[in-house]
Amino acid sequence: MYTATKDLKLPTTITGSVPRPAWYTENLRGRPFRVAMAEKNFREQYLDAVSCIIRDQERAGLDIVTDGDARFDTDVGGRSWVNYTLERLQGVTGYETGRSEAARKNTTRPGDILFEVLEAWALPQVTGKLGPGPLELPQLWRSAQQMTAKPVKVGVASPETVALLLPNRHYKDREQMFADLSAIMREEFLRVAGSGAAVFQVEEPWVHRVDYTQKDAPAQAELSVRWFNQSVRGLREKLELWCHTCWGNPAQQRTFDINKRYEPALEYMNELDADVLTFECATTKGADIESIGREITKPKVAIGVIDHHTLQVERPEEVAALLRTALRHIPPERLCVSTDCGFGREGMSRRHAFYKMVALTRGTNIVRRELGLPEAHIPAAESRFALADEE
Ligand SMILES: [Zn+2]
Repeated sequence: MYTATKDLKLPTTITGSVPRPAWYTENLRGRPFRVAMAEKNFREQYLDAVSCIIRDQERAGLDIVTDGDARFDTDVGGRSWVNYTLERLQGVTGYETGRSEAARKNTTRPGDILFEVLEAWALPQVTGKLGPGPLELPQLWRSAQQMTAKPVKVGVASPETVALLLPNRHYKDREQMFADLSAIMREEFLRVAGSGAAVFQVEEPWVHRVDYTQKDAPAQAELSVRWFNQSVRGLREKLELWCHTCWGNPAQQRTFDINKRYEPALEYMNELDADVLTFECATTKGADIESIGREITKPKVAIGVIDHHTLQVERPEEVAALLRTALRHIPPERLCVSTDCGFGREGMSRRHAFYKMVALTRGTNIVRRELGLPEAHIPAAESRFALADEE
């Protein structure tokens, strides 16, 4: 149901992750969040970091803010994105010593940055029946939401993605492993809703990543949609559910060819049980927008207008141009504005991410002005707050 974006035209947000402040050096290292929060240094650094991350988004004038994925460790290639969940489940032990399944399937080789990423992920293995553990997503949401009046969107990797990456040494039937994982994660999602969150995000169903040149692609796409919908069943009755999709972000690397398009996946994606679907559109300079506008008729559409791979900060005029293109195919009441993916923890500085967020809202304000819509207040862009005196 629409809560966070209800009655809003061109609401703004980011995907989730934000570079850590340099002084935030503590890590969860597999501990349950509340156990770590019993430790003075972790508690102080974590809460201060989330506070800074939210304040930066407020200064940038965003409508929906995130906790910056501040729970994730400073590990290689964003490993925590899947590992945060994995290392807290029952039935998961040890770690893979050889090349991971993902690495074996991948075409990367020593000398490629993605080879190092996959090697470093060293994921734990499923050695028994999966059972619930301290995922503590409601606790993370509560910690962040108390710091702002704006809705806080916490995000988590989809059960499908986690299951696809998880080395399996126990289940004969992968479908059963997914069913168990999905049920565990759905319970946690419902607890977030039960805590009073207005908005929540599940990241990366595999549907758009399927190889649509293969004969069994439709069956794979339908399976992906079924898995996503099964894992979020009932959630939209309680909050606004966002589903994020992109072309990858480990160590700020795109993991698919730049020419891969959303188009063959869109008829399936339209069936995803989400209120808002996000699409990576900045890197592709809007190449998918026309087909998205045509095919995505059920959920609202959030387009990425900011590239998470590059350090060059987009100009507000570039953001506005991409939004004008989108508005030719998607009406303003169905269009949300976001980044292509998270800013990550390794690739860019806080400053780059901050000015990218400011560019996002400044660019959206240009288009809001043209449409006669109220503009966002962007404290970071006000000349009266500049340190240097005006002559
Ligand atoms: Zn992404």
